[in-house]
Amino acid sequence: MSNVQKKTDVILIGAGVMSATLGSLLKELVPEWEIKVFEKLSNAGEESSNEWNNAGTGHAALCELNYTSEKPDGSIDVSKAIKINEQFQLSMQFWSYLVDRNLIKNPQDFIMPLPHISLVQGEQNIEFLKKRFKALSTNPLFKGMQFSEDTEKLIEWFPLIMEGRNMNEPIAATKIDSGTDVNFGALTRMLFEHLKTENVEVNYKHSVKNIKRISDGSWEVKVHNMDSGEIEYHRAKFVFIGAGGASLPILQKTGIPESKHIGGFPVSGLFLVCNNPEVVEQHHAKVYGKAKVGAPPMSVPHLDTRYIDNKKSLLFGPFAGFSPKFLKTGSNFDLIGSVKPNNLLTMLAAGAKEMSLTKYLIQQVLLSNEKRMEELREFIPNAKSEDWDIVVAGQRVQVIKDTPAGKGTLQFGTEVVSAADGSIAALLGASPGASTAVHVMLEVLEKCFPQHLNEWEPKIKEMIPSYGVSLVENTELFEEIHTSNAKTLGLRGTDKLVYN
Ligand SMILES: Cc1cc2nc3c(=O)[nH]c(=O)nc-3n(C[C@H](O)[C@H](O)[C@H](O)COP(=O)(O)OP(=O)(O)OC[C@H]3O[C@@H](n4cnc5c(N)ncnc54)[C@H](O)[C@@H]3O)c2cc1C
Repeated sequence: MSNVQKKTDVILIGAGVMSATLGSLLKELVPEWEIKVFEKLSNAGEESSNEWNNAGTGHAALCELNYTSEKPDGSIDVSKAIKINEQFQLSMQFWSYLVDRNLIKNPQDFIMPLPHISLVQGEQNIEFLKKRFKALSTNPLFKGMQFSEDTEKLIEWFPLIMEGRNMNEPIAATKIDSGTDVNFGALTRMLFEHLKTENVEVNYKHSVKNIKRISDGSWEVKVHNMDSGEIEYHRAKFVFIGAGGASLPILQKTGIPESKHIGGFPVSGLFLVCNNPEVVEQHHAKVYGKAKVGAPPMSVPHLDTRYIDNKKSLLFGPFAGFSPKFLKTGSNFDLIGSVKPNNLLTMLAAGAKEMSLTKYLIQQVLLSNEKRMEELREFIPNAKSEDWDIVVAGQRVQVIKDTPAGKGTLQFGTEVVSAADGSIAALLGASPGASTAVHVMLEVLEKCFPQHLNEWEPKIKEMIPSYGVSLVENTELFEEIHTSNAKTLGLRGTDKLVYN
Protein backbone atom coordinates (compact mmCIF):
# COMPACT_ATOMS: atom_id res chain seq x y z
CA MET A 1 0.00 0.00 0.00
CA SER A 2 1.29 3.48 -0.71
CA ASN A 3 -0.17 6.94 -0.82
CA VAL A 4 0.93 10.44 -1.79
CA GLN A 5 -0.07 13.15 0.68
CA LYS A 6 -0.68 16.79 -0.07
CA LYS A 7 2.25 19.19 -0.14
CA THR A 8 3.29 21.01 3.00
CA ASP A 9 5.60 24.00 3.52
CA VAL A 10 8.17 22.37 5.76
CA ILE A 11 9.15 18.82 6.70
CA LEU A 12 11.41 18.27 9.70
CA ILE A 13 13.05 14.83 9.81
CA GLY A 14 13.76 13.73 13.39
CA ALA A 15 12.34 14.98 16.70
CA GLY A 16 15.56 15.99 18.45
CA VAL A 17 16.48 19.38 19.87
CA MET A 18 17.54 20.72 16.46
CA SER A 19 14.21 20.11 14.70
CA ALA A 20 12.43 21.33 17.85
CA THR A 21 14.38 24.58 17.74
CA LEU A 22 13.97 25.15 14.01
CA GLY A 23 10.24 24.38 14.19
CA SER A 24 9.80 26.78 17.12
CA LEU A 25 11.71 29.58 15.36
CA LEU A 26 9.71 29.11 12.16
CA LYS A 27 6.37 29.06 14.00
CA GLU A 28 7.19 32.48 15.50
CA LEU A 29 8.42 33.90 12.20
CA VAL A 30 5.75 32.51 9.84
CA PRO A 31 2.91 31.02 11.90
CA GLU A 32 0.90 30.29 8.76
CA TRP A 33 3.45 27.83 7.34
CA GLU A 34 2.43 24.19 7.60
CA ILE A 35 5.03 21.99 9.28
CA LYS A 36 5.17 18.18 9.48
CA VAL A 37 7.62 16.22 11.60
CA PHE A 38 8.59 12.57 11.06
CA GLU A 39 10.29 10.73 13.92
CA LYS A 40 11.03 7.03 13.84
CA LEU A 41 10.91 6.55 17.64
CA SER A 42 7.77 6.79 19.74
CA ASN A 43 8.60 10.08 21.48
CA ALA A 44 10.61 13.28 21.03
CA GLY A 45 14.19 13.65 22.31
CA GLU A 46 14.95 9.94 22.63
CA GLU A 47 18.32 9.89 20.83
CA SER A 48 21.32 12.23 21.47
CA SER A 49 19.06 14.95 22.88
CA ASN A 50 17.84 12.64 25.65
CA GLU A 51 19.06 13.61 29.13
CA TRP A 52 20.74 10.21 29.67
CA ASN A 53 22.48 10.32 26.30
CA ASN A 54 24.39 13.60 26.61
CA ALA A 55 26.24 15.43 29.39
CA GLY A 56 23.76 18.29 29.75
CA THR A 57 26.40 20.98 29.85
CA GLY A 58 25.20 24.38 28.78
CA HIS A 59 28.40 24.87 26.80
CA ALA A 60 29.47 28.47 27.32
CA ALA A 61 33.22 27.75 27.59
CA LEU A 62 33.09 28.56 31.30
CA CYS A 63 34.95 25.37 32.28
CA GLU A 64 35.82 23.41 29.12
CA LEU A 65 39.58 23.79 28.78
CA ASN A 66 39.68 22.62 25.16
CA TYR A 67 38.04 25.88 24.04
CA THR A 68 41.10 27.89 25.08
CA SER A 69 44.48 26.94 23.66
CA GLU A 70 47.98 28.14 24.42
CA LYS A 71 49.61 30.03 21.55
CA PRO A 72 53.30 29.44 20.67
CA ASP A 73 54.16 32.73 22.46
CA GLY A 74 52.60 31.35 25.65
CA SER A 75 49.53 33.59 25.60
CA ILE A 76 46.01 32.13 25.65
CA ASP A 77 43.76 32.18 22.60
CA VAL A 78 40.27 32.91 23.93
CA SER A 79 38.55 33.51 20.56
CA LYS A 80 36.84 30.10 20.46
CA ALA A 81 35.67 30.44 24.08
CA ILE A 82 34.11 33.83 23.30
CA LYS A 83 32.44 32.47 20.18
CA ILE A 84 30.87 29.53 22.02
CA ASN A 85 29.78 31.71 24.95
CA GLU A 86 28.08 34.15 22.54
CA GLN A 87 26.34 31.23 20.81
CA PHE A 88 25.02 29.93 24.13
CA GLN A 89 23.69 33.42 24.93
CA LEU A 90 21.53 33.14 21.78
CA SER A 91 19.98 29.91 23.10
CA MET A 92 19.31 31.48 26.52
CA GLN A 93 17.61 34.46 24.90
CA PHE A 94 15.32 32.31 22.77
CA TRP A 95 14.41 30.05 25.72
CA SER A 96 13.68 33.18 27.82
CA TYR A 97 11.48 34.55 25.03
CA LEU A 98 9.48 31.30 24.96
CA VAL A 99 9.12 31.25 28.76
CA ASP A 100 8.19 34.95 28.98
CA ARG A 101 5.38 34.36 26.50
CA ASN A 102 4.22 31.23 28.29
CA LEU A 103 4.92 29.14 25.18
CA ILE A 104 6.95 26.81 27.38
CA LYS A 105 6.62 26.70 31.16
CA ASN A 106 8.63 25.80 34.27
CA PRO A 107 12.18 26.56 33.07
CA GLN A 108 13.56 24.75 36.13
CA ASP A 109 12.44 21.52 34.44
CA PHE A 110 15.05 22.03 31.71
CA ILE A 111 17.70 24.44 33.00
CA MET A 112 19.31 24.76 36.43
CA PRO A 113 22.07 27.04 37.73
CA LEU A 114 25.22 25.06 38.46
CA PRO A 115 28.80 26.19 39.10
CA HIS A 116 31.21 25.31 36.28
CA ILE A 117 34.69 24.36 37.50
CA SER A 118 37.97 23.68 35.68
CA LEU A 119 40.34 21.54 37.73
CA VAL A 120 44.02 20.87 37.03
CA GLN A 121 46.98 19.29 38.77
CA GLY A 122 50.72 19.85 38.28
CA GLU A 123 52.74 23.07 37.98
CA GLN A 124 52.53 23.32 34.20
CA ASN A 125 48.76 22.88 34.08
CA ILE A 126 48.30 25.37 36.91
CA GLU A 127 50.34 27.93 34.98
CA PHE A 128 48.01 27.35 32.00
CA LEU A 129 44.90 27.70 34.16
CA LYS A 130 46.20 30.91 35.75
CA LYS A 131 46.85 32.42 32.34
CA ARG A 132 43.45 31.28 31.10
CA PHE A 133 41.81 32.82 34.17
CA LYS A 134 43.61 36.12 33.63
CA ALA A 135 42.62 36.19 29.97
CA LEU A 136 38.95 35.34 30.58
CA SER A 137 38.00 36.87 33.92
CA THR A 138 38.46 40.44 32.69
CA ASN A 139 36.10 39.67 29.82
CA PRO A 140 32.47 40.62 30.58
CA LEU A 141 31.16 37.26 29.30
CA PHE A 142 33.19 35.42 31.95
CA LYS A 143 32.64 37.88 34.79
CA GLY A 144 32.53 36.26 38.19
CA MET A 145 35.14 33.59 37.45
CA GLN A 146 37.28 32.83 40.51
CA PHE A 147 40.68 31.15 40.68
CA SER A 148 42.12 29.33 43.69
CA GLU A 149 45.07 27.17 44.69
CA ASP A 150 44.06 27.36 48.32
CA THR A 151 43.23 23.94 49.77
CA GLU A 152 40.57 25.32 52.13
CA LYS A 153 38.83 27.09 49.28
CA LEU A 154 38.99 24.00 47.08
CA ILE A 155 37.49 21.88 49.87
CA GLU A 156 34.66 24.41 50.05
CA TRP A 157 34.15 24.22 46.25
CA PHE A 158 34.36 20.42 45.83
CA PRO A 159 34.70 18.46 49.09
CA LEU A 160 34.17 15.09 47.41
CA ILE A 161 37.10 15.66 45.07
CA MET A 162 39.41 16.82 47.86
CA GLU A 163 38.58 14.06 50.34
CA GLY A 164 41.39 11.47 50.54
CA ARG A 165 43.48 13.32 47.94
CA ASN A 166 47.25 12.97 47.98
CA MET A 167 48.30 16.61 48.25
CA ASN A 168 51.88 16.06 47.04
CA GLU A 169 50.92 17.34 43.63
CA PRO A 170 49.78 20.98 43.46
CA ILE A 171 46.15 21.51 42.45
CA ALA A 172 44.17 24.55 41.30
CA ALA A 173 40.73 25.36 39.96
CA THR A 174 38.56 28.10 38.54
CA LYS A 175 34.89 28.38 39.43
CA ILE A 176 32.08 30.40 37.93
CA ASP A 177 28.59 30.33 39.38
CA SER A 178 26.75 31.45 36.25
CA GLY A 179 27.10 27.97 34.66
CA THR A 180 24.13 25.74 33.86
CA ASP A 181 22.98 22.15 33.66
CA VAL A 182 20.53 21.74 30.80
CA ASN A 183 18.13 18.84 30.46
CA PHE A 184 18.00 18.84 26.67
CA GLY A 185 15.59 15.89 26.65
CA ALA A 186 13.04 17.78 28.74
CA LEU A 187 13.54 20.90 26.62
CA THR A 188 13.01 18.94 23.40
CA ARG A 189 9.80 17.36 24.72
CA MET A 190 8.52 20.76 25.89
CA LEU A 191 9.23 22.33 22.51
CA PHE A 192 7.38 19.54 20.69
CA GLU A 193 4.41 19.89 23.05
CA HIS A 194 4.42 23.59 22.23
CA LEU A 195 4.66 22.87 18.48
CA LYS A 196 1.66 20.54 18.67
CA THR A 197 -0.40 23.41 20.11
CA GLU A 198 0.70 25.48 17.10
CA ASN A 199 -0.81 22.90 14.71
CA VAL A 200 2.47 21.26 13.80
CA GLU A 201 1.77 17.66 12.77
CA VAL A 202 4.20 15.49 14.75
CA ASN A 203 4.27 11.90 13.48
CA TYR A 204 6.02 9.42 15.77
CA LYS A 205 6.91 5.90 14.62
CA HIS A 206 7.37 7.27 11.11
CA SER A 207 10.74 6.36 9.65
CA VAL A 208 12.11 8.29 6.67
CA LYS A 209 13.36 5.85 4.06
CA ASN A 210 14.17 7.98 1.06
CA ILE A 211 14.06 11.47 -0.29
CA LYS A 212 14.05 12.75 -3.85
CA ARG A 213 13.61 15.99 -5.69
CA ILE A 214 10.48 16.28 -7.83
CA SER A 215 10.02 18.23 -11.05
CA ASP A 216 8.78 21.46 -9.42
CA GLY A 217 11.99 21.68 -7.32
CA SER A 218 10.39 20.58 -4.06
CA TRP A 219 11.14 17.31 -2.21
CA GLU A 220 9.28 14.03 -1.84
CA VAL A 221 9.99 12.15 1.37
CA LYS A 222 9.25 8.43 1.52
CA VAL A 223 8.08 7.50 4.99
CA HIS A 224 7.36 4.12 6.58
CA ASN A 225 4.41 4.37 8.96
CA MET A 226 5.57 1.78 11.48
CA ASP A 227 2.11 1.33 13.04
CA SER A 228 0.13 0.74 9.87
CA GLY A 229 3.01 -0.72 7.85
CA GLU A 230 2.11 1.66 5.02
CA ILE A 231 4.52 3.61 2.86
CA GLU A 232 3.57 7.28 2.60
CA TYR A 233 4.96 9.99 0.32
CA HIS A 234 5.02 13.51 1.72
CA ARG A 235 6.06 16.57 -0.26
CA ALA A 236 7.48 19.87 0.97
CA LYS A 237 9.06 23.03 -0.37
CA PHE A 238 11.68 22.90 2.39
CA VAL A 239 13.11 19.91 4.26
CA PHE A 240 15.37 19.94 7.31
CA ILE A 241 17.26 16.73 8.00
CA GLY A 242 17.59 16.79 11.79
CA ALA A 243 18.12 13.06 12.18
CA GLY A 244 21.18 13.40 14.44
CA GLY A 245 23.78 10.76 13.58
CA ALA A 246 21.50 9.47 10.80
CA SER A 247 21.47 12.84 9.00
CA LEU A 248 24.45 11.87 6.82
CA PRO A 249 22.86 8.78 5.18
CA ILE A 250 19.62 10.72 4.56
CA LEU A 251 21.57 13.66 3.12
CA GLN A 252 23.40 11.24 0.82
CA LYS A 253 20.05 10.06 -0.56
CA THR A 254 19.24 13.62 -1.75
CA GLY A 255 22.10 13.40 -4.28
CA ILE A 256 22.77 17.17 -3.99
CA PRO A 257 26.37 18.07 -4.89
CA GLU A 258 26.90 19.44 -1.36
CA SER A 259 26.29 15.93 0.04
CA LYS A 260 29.30 14.47 -1.78
CA HIS A 261 32.81 13.87 -0.40
CA ILE A 262 31.55 13.93 3.19
CA GLY A 263 31.85 11.03 5.61
CA GLY A 264 30.96 10.35 9.22
CA PHE A 265 32.97 8.83 12.06
CA PRO A 266 30.84 7.53 14.93
CA VAL A 267 32.01 7.89 18.51
CA SER A 268 30.12 6.07 21.23
CA GLY A 269 29.88 7.03 24.88
CA LEU A 270 29.42 5.63 28.38
CA PHE A 271 28.68 7.31 31.71
CA LEU A 272 29.32 6.14 35.24
CA VAL A 273 26.23 7.04 37.31
CA CYS A 274 26.36 7.25 41.09
CA ASN A 275 23.71 5.17 42.82
CA ASN A 276 24.54 6.35 46.35
CA PRO A 277 22.45 9.42 47.34
CA GLU A 278 24.89 10.31 50.14
CA VAL A 279 27.72 10.67 47.61
CA VAL A 280 25.47 12.57 45.17
CA GLU A 281 24.67 15.11 47.89
CA GLN A 282 28.35 15.89 48.51
CA HIS A 283 28.93 17.41 45.09
CA HIS A 284 27.43 20.44 43.41
CA ALA A 285 29.16 21.45 40.14
CA LYS A 286 30.30 20.43 36.71
CA VAL A 287 34.03 19.76 36.97
CA TYR A 288 36.08 19.54 33.78
CA GLY A 289 39.74 18.51 33.71
CA LYS A 290 42.41 18.74 31.04
CA ALA A 291 42.47 16.20 28.20
CA LYS A 292 45.27 13.68 28.40
CA VAL A 293 47.95 14.10 25.73
CA GLY A 294 46.70 12.56 22.45
CA ALA A 295 43.06 12.28 23.57
CA PRO A 296 40.40 13.86 21.33
CA PRO A 297 38.42 16.79 22.79
CA MET A 298 35.18 14.82 23.23
CA SER A 299 36.90 12.23 25.37
CA VAL A 300 37.54 14.29 28.48
CA PRO A 301 35.33 12.76 31.18
CA HIS A 302 33.94 15.26 33.66
CA LEU A 303 32.19 14.98 37.00
CA ASP A 304 28.74 16.49 36.74
CA THR A 305 25.88 17.17 39.05
CA ARG A 306 22.83 16.65 36.86
CA TYR A 307 19.14 17.34 37.29
CA ILE A 308 17.28 14.45 35.70
CA ASP A 309 13.66 13.48 36.44
CA ASN A 310 13.56 16.39 38.95
CA LYS A 311 16.25 14.65 40.98
CA LYS A 312 19.88 15.53 41.63
CA SER A 313 22.23 12.92 40.09
CA LEU A 314 25.97 12.53 39.72
CA LEU A 315 27.49 11.37 36.44
CA PHE A 316 31.08 10.87 35.35
CA GLY A 317 31.94 10.65 31.67
CA PRO A 318 31.33 10.35 28.84
CA PHE A 319 34.03 7.80 28.13
CA ALA A 320 34.43 7.84 24.36
CA GLY A 321 34.52 4.59 22.43
CA PHE A 322 34.03 3.15 18.97
CA SER A 323 30.84 1.66 17.55
CA PRO A 324 29.88 1.53 13.86
CA LYS A 325 26.34 2.76 14.65
CA PHE A 326 25.22 6.29 13.72
CA LEU A 327 22.44 6.30 16.33
CA LYS A 328 22.19 4.55 19.67
CA THR A 329 19.21 2.77 18.12
CA GLY A 330 21.10 2.40 14.82
CA SER A 331 22.58 -0.56 12.95
CA ASN A 332 26.07 -2.07 12.90
CA PHE A 333 26.06 -1.48 9.13
CA ASP A 334 25.62 2.33 9.41
CA LEU A 335 29.29 3.19 8.98
CA ILE A 336 30.00 0.83 6.10
CA GLY A 337 26.72 1.80 4.41
CA SER A 338 27.76 5.45 4.43
CA VAL A 339 30.86 4.74 2.33
CA LYS A 340 29.97 5.71 -1.25
CA PRO A 341 32.10 6.00 -4.40
CA ASN A 342 32.14 9.80 -3.96
CA ASN A 343 33.47 9.74 -0.37
CA LEU A 344 35.62 6.59 -0.49
CA LEU A 345 38.91 8.47 -0.88
CA THR A 346 37.90 10.98 1.80
CA MET A 347 37.09 8.13 4.20
CA LEU A 348 40.27 6.21 3.37
CA ALA A 349 42.38 9.34 3.87
CA ALA A 350 40.73 9.91 7.25
CA GLY A 351 41.26 6.27 8.19
CA ALA A 352 44.97 6.54 7.43
CA LYS A 353 45.32 9.88 9.24
CA GLU A 354 43.27 9.06 12.28
CA MET A 355 44.84 5.71 13.18
CA SER A 356 45.83 7.02 16.60
CA LEU A 357 42.26 8.22 17.31
CA THR A 358 40.80 4.89 16.19
CA LYS A 359 43.34 3.09 18.38
CA TYR A 360 42.49 5.37 21.30
CA LEU A 361 38.74 4.76 20.90
CA ILE A 362 39.18 1.00 20.61
CA GLN A 363 41.33 1.03 23.74
CA GLN A 364 38.55 2.96 25.47
CA VAL A 365 35.98 0.34 24.42
CA LEU A 366 38.20 -2.34 25.92
CA LEU A 367 38.52 -0.54 29.26
CA SER A 368 37.36 -2.71 32.11
CA ASN A 369 34.95 -1.26 34.65
CA GLU A 370 37.78 -1.17 37.18
CA LYS A 371 39.92 0.89 34.76
CA ARG A 372 37.00 3.32 34.37
CA MET A 373 36.79 3.52 38.16
CA GLU A 374 40.50 4.36 38.21
CA GLU A 375 39.81 7.32 35.92
CA LEU A 376 36.97 8.36 38.21
CA ARG A 377 39.34 8.13 41.21
CA GLU A 378 41.47 10.84 39.62
CA PHE A 379 38.44 13.03 40.47
CA ILE A 380 37.02 11.25 43.54
CA PRO A 381 39.95 9.46 45.23
CA ASN A 382 37.64 7.54 47.58
CA ALA A 383 35.11 6.42 44.94
CA LYS A 384 33.78 2.92 45.64
CA SER A 385 32.98 0.64 42.69
CA GLU A 386 29.69 -0.48 44.23
CA ASP A 387 28.40 3.13 44.24
CA TRP A 388 28.65 3.47 40.47
CA ASP A 389 26.73 1.89 37.56
CA ILE A 390 27.35 2.12 33.84
CA VAL A 391 24.87 3.64 31.37
CA VAL A 392 25.29 3.81 27.62
CA ALA A 393 25.29 7.40 26.26
CA GLY A 394 24.35 8.62 22.78
CA GLN A 395 26.34 8.34 19.57
CA ARG A 396 28.20 11.30 18.08
CA VAL A 397 28.97 11.20 14.38
CA GLN A 398 31.93 13.45 13.65
CA VAL A 399 32.12 14.91 10.14
CA ILE A 400 34.96 13.88 7.81
CA LYS A 401 35.55 16.12 4.84
CA ASP A 402 38.19 17.48 2.50
CA THR A 403 39.48 20.82 3.75
CA PRO A 404 42.47 23.04 2.96
CA ALA A 405 44.15 21.09 5.81
CA GLY A 406 43.94 17.96 3.66
CA LYS A 407 41.76 15.17 2.33
CA GLY A 408 39.66 13.33 4.87
CA THR A 409 40.02 15.75 7.78
CA LEU A 410 38.07 14.92 10.92
CA GLN A 411 35.95 17.85 12.15
CA PHE A 412 34.88 18.23 15.75
CA GLY A 413 32.22 20.92 15.24
CA THR A 414 28.72 20.99 13.77
CA GLU A 415 28.10 21.72 10.08
CA VAL A 416 25.00 22.89 8.28
CA VAL A 417 25.03 21.41 4.77
CA SER A 418 22.44 22.95 2.46
CA ALA A 419 21.49 22.87 -1.20
CA ALA A 420 22.45 25.92 -3.26
CA ASP A 421 18.76 26.81 -3.73
CA GLY A 422 18.09 26.56 0.03
CA SER A 423 15.36 23.91 -0.41
CA ILE A 424 17.02 21.38 1.92
CA ALA A 425 19.49 21.49 4.81
CA ALA A 426 21.03 18.90 7.10
CA LEU A 427 22.85 19.22 10.37
CA LEU A 428 25.95 17.07 10.75
CA GLY A 429 28.35 16.74 13.67
CA ALA A 430 27.65 17.01 17.37
CA SER A 431 29.76 19.58 19.16
CA PRO A 432 29.24 21.95 20.99
CA GLY A 433 25.87 20.48 20.21
CA ALA A 434 22.52 21.11 21.75
CA SER A 435 23.71 24.21 23.65
CA THR A 436 24.19 26.05 20.40
CA ALA A 437 21.00 24.78 18.73
CA VAL A 438 19.60 28.30 18.32
CA HIS A 439 22.76 29.63 16.70
CA VAL A 440 22.91 26.65 14.34
CA MET A 441 19.23 26.86 13.39
CA LEU A 442 19.59 30.62 12.74
CA GLU A 443 22.37 29.59 10.34
CA VAL A 444 19.89 27.26 8.61
CA LEU A 445 17.46 30.19 8.24
CA GLU A 446 20.20 32.45 6.87
CA LYS A 447 21.39 29.84 4.37
CA CYS A 448 17.98 28.61 3.23
CA PHE A 449 15.71 31.67 3.46
CA PRO A 450 17.89 34.68 2.49
CA GLN A 451 14.91 36.18 0.63
CA HIS A 452 12.91 36.43 3.90
CA LEU A 453 15.64 37.66 6.23
CA ASN A 454 14.96 41.41 5.93
CA GLU A 455 11.31 40.86 6.67
CA TRP A 456 12.09 38.44 9.55
CA GLU A 457 14.87 40.43 11.19
CA PRO A 458 12.68 42.59 13.51
CA LYS A 459 10.98 39.46 14.88
CA ILE A 460 14.30 37.62 15.25
CA LYS A 461 15.62 40.60 17.25
CA GLU A 462 12.51 40.60 19.40
CA MET A 463 13.16 36.92 20.24
CA ILE A 464 16.96 37.17 20.37
CA PRO A 465 18.00 40.77 21.07
CA SER A 466 21.70 40.11 20.48
CA TYR A 467 21.09 38.63 16.98
CA GLY A 468 23.78 40.01 14.67
CA VAL A 469 25.46 41.91 17.54
CA SER A 470 28.72 41.02 19.28
CA LEU A 471 27.99 40.87 23.02
CA VAL A 472 31.65 41.05 23.91
CA GLU A 473 31.74 44.45 22.18
CA ASN A 474 28.40 45.58 23.69
CA THR A 475 28.83 44.97 27.36
CA GLU A 476 25.79 47.01 28.38
CA LEU A 477 23.54 44.92 26.15
CA PHE A 478 25.19 41.77 27.54
CA GLU A 479 24.55 42.80 31.17
CA GLU A 480 20.95 43.68 30.34
CA ILE A 481 20.30 40.40 28.48
CA HIS A 482 22.14 38.25 30.98
CA THR A 483 20.29 39.72 33.95
CA SER A 484 16.91 39.43 32.33
CA ASN A 485 17.54 35.83 31.12
CA ALA A 486 18.80 34.84 34.56
CA LYS A 487 15.58 36.21 36.08
CA THR A 488 13.29 34.48 33.58
CA LEU A 489 15.12 31.15 33.66
CA GLY A 490 15.86 31.17 37.41
CA LEU A 491 19.65 31.32 36.95
CA ARG A 492 22.58 33.19 38.48
CA GLY A 493 23.61 36.59 37.11
CA THR A 494 27.26 37.58 36.83
CA ASP A 495 29.15 38.17 40.09
CA LYS A 496 31.99 40.47 41.01
CA LEU A 497 35.56 39.40 40.26
CA VAL A 498 37.45 37.48 42.92
CA TYR A 499 41.12 36.39 42.82
CA ASN A 500 42.68 34.42 45.69
C1 LIG B 1 27.81 11.47 24.86
C2 LIG B 1 27.31 12.81 24.42
C3 LIG B 1 27.50 13.93 25.24
C4 LIG B 1 27.04 15.17 24.83
N1 LIG B 1 27.15 16.22 25.69
C5 LIG B 1 26.62 17.42 25.35
C6 LIG B 1 26.63 18.48 26.27
O1 LIG B 1 27.09 18.34 27.41
N2 LIG B 1 26.11 19.67 25.89
C7 LIG B 1 25.60 19.86 24.64
O2 LIG B 1 25.17 20.96 24.34
N3 LIG B 1 25.56 18.85 23.73
C8 LIG B 1 26.04 17.65 24.07
N4 LIG B 1 26.00 16.60 23.18
C9 LIG B 1 25.51 16.85 21.81
C10 LIG B 1 23.99 16.90 21.73
O3 LIG B 1 23.43 15.83 22.45
C11 LIG B 1 23.57 16.84 20.27
O4 LIG B 1 24.26 17.83 19.54
C12 LIG B 1 22.09 17.10 20.06
O5 LIG B 1 21.31 16.37 20.96
C13 LIG B 1 21.74 16.73 18.63
O6 LIG B 1 20.37 16.94 18.44
P1 LIG B 1 19.69 16.47 17.10
O7 LIG B 1 18.31 16.99 17.13
O8 LIG B 1 20.55 16.87 15.94
O9 LIG B 1 19.80 14.88 17.13
P2 LIG B 1 19.02 13.77 18.00
O10 LIG B 1 18.65 14.24 19.33
O11 LIG B 1 19.84 12.54 17.90
O12 LIG B 1 17.67 13.59 17.20
C14 LIG B 1 17.61 13.01 15.93
C15 LIG B 1 16.29 12.32 15.81
O13 LIG B 1 16.12 11.85 14.48
C16 LIG B 1 15.49 10.59 14.53
N5 LIG B 1 15.75 9.88 13.28
C17 LIG B 1 16.92 9.37 12.86
N6 LIG B 1 16.77 8.77 11.67
C18 LIG B 1 15.48 8.92 11.32
C19 LIG B 1 14.71 8.51 10.21
N7 LIG B 1 15.25 7.85 9.18
N8 LIG B 1 13.39 8.82 10.18
C20 LIG B 1 12.82 9.50 11.20
N9 LIG B 1 13.50 9.90 12.29
C21 LIG B 1 14.81 9.62 12.34
C22 LIG B 1 16.10 9.93 15.75
O14 LIG B 1 15.30 8.86 16.22
C23 LIG B 1 16.18 11.10 16.72
O15 LIG B 1 15.04 11.22 17.53
C24 LIG B 1 26.42 15.34 23.56
C25 LIG B 1 26.21 14.22 22.75
C26 LIG B 1 26.63 12.96 23.18
C27 LIG B 1 26.35 11.78 22.33
